[in-house]
Amino acid sequence: MLAIGCGSKSRRYTSIDALCAADKKAGQDPPDNFGELEPPVGNKLAVHFLNVGHGNCILVECPGPTSKNSVLIDCGSGPARSLARDRAPQLRQKDTVAYIQRILTERAGETSVILTHPHMDHVSRVREVLKPDQKLGKVFLGGKRGSYSSVLAPSVAKWLSNVAADKIQDATNRTDTRQLDIACGGAKFYRLTADARGMKRTLFNRFVSYPNATSFVTLLRYGKFTAVFPGDATGSGKLPTTAKALQGLSQISPPVGGVSLMASAHHGSATHGSNNTEWTNGTRPQITVFSSSTSMGHPNCAAVKRYHKYAATRKTKGHDLTCTKGGKSWSRNYRVGMAKALYTTQDHGTIRVVTDGTTVRVGCDRHSNGTARFCGVDIPAGR
Ligand SMILES: [Zn+2]
Repeated sequence: MLAIGCGSKSRRYTSIDALCAADKKAGQDPPDNFGELEPPVGNKLAVHFLNVGHGNCILVECPGPTSKNSVLIDCGSGPARSLARDRAPQLRQKDTVAYIQRILTERAGETSVILTHPHMDHVSRVREVLKPDQKLGKVFLGGKRGSYSSVLAPSVAKWLSNVAADKIQDATNRTDTRQLDIACGGAKFYRLTADARGMKRTLFNRFVSYPNATSFVTLLRYGKFTAVFPGDATGSGKLPTTAKALQGLSQISPPVGGVSLMASAHHGSATHGSNNTEWTNGTRPQITVFSSSTSMGHPNCAAVKRYHKYAATRKTKGHDLTCTKGGKSWSRNYRVGMAKALYTTQDHGTIRVVTDGTTVRVGCDRHSNGTARFCGVDIPAGR
């Protein structure tokens, strides 16, 4: 680990200095009243980004006194395990199950499921976190249903085989932008894009299917709060998923001044045009969460920098964020001081974003044990 303080003149990556804020103080944010994990009461919506290491596992608790429903957006973890250099301990599978079951059991409503694409790091824990007797809403799949095969994702293929066919919608022929049939209190989900035909050029100049480019990209809207979940969306050449998603966003009256919350695409990667400038300029997120692990070289400092431009300034002490220059598992890691609302699961643990549709607060649960502390953001939703 190479630690770079703010203002450091590292020859290796001097431009990282641009990310550094005036607030260089080390240390943790003060404790706050997030307290024990419990369902948000009344009209509040909560988004949990579980620290599953290299992977995505996002749970949305729907708002409204009468809504007990939830939405699971991916839940998986890649084969690369926690490294000592990841500062927050990753949730193992049984801990992931316990975290989610604790919420779902208490809520006792139905759970809708969005699986962005058929890669292990997005789907490997779905079957385990959803008990067989879980009441299910609709299940949405990025890519064709057949691509969720026992080869790519054995446990989720088994899980899907037990879900009633009329509950499942795959992305085949569903590339248009529209509201999704998800009951989530006063919150609404929209499909920005989902194209089952993602392609990638091979060494031999042929095009092959590339699951990241089939990512099912969604927008969540609740009052003035908006959040975008792009899966591992790509953004270049024949893989223009993010461009299609921006088109989708423009069709459903995009939030003026940018979205409130972004789940960075592809764990903060900068390959295949993920998190490109067109995307960050088009979405301008106030808060960005990188669901990532240094074990895969995520997030890329270049992607962090693009989001840094638009992120809200945190109210409390600066925190550190780890990124890599090369975006590979062997890439050198940089730890940068950060006064902006950018978070990684590998640094800050499970991230919890709570909103009543008017204001947004962020809590960091470093040990993913249900005790989130205020970590710097309490801002109006929407600029
Ligand atoms: Zn992924």
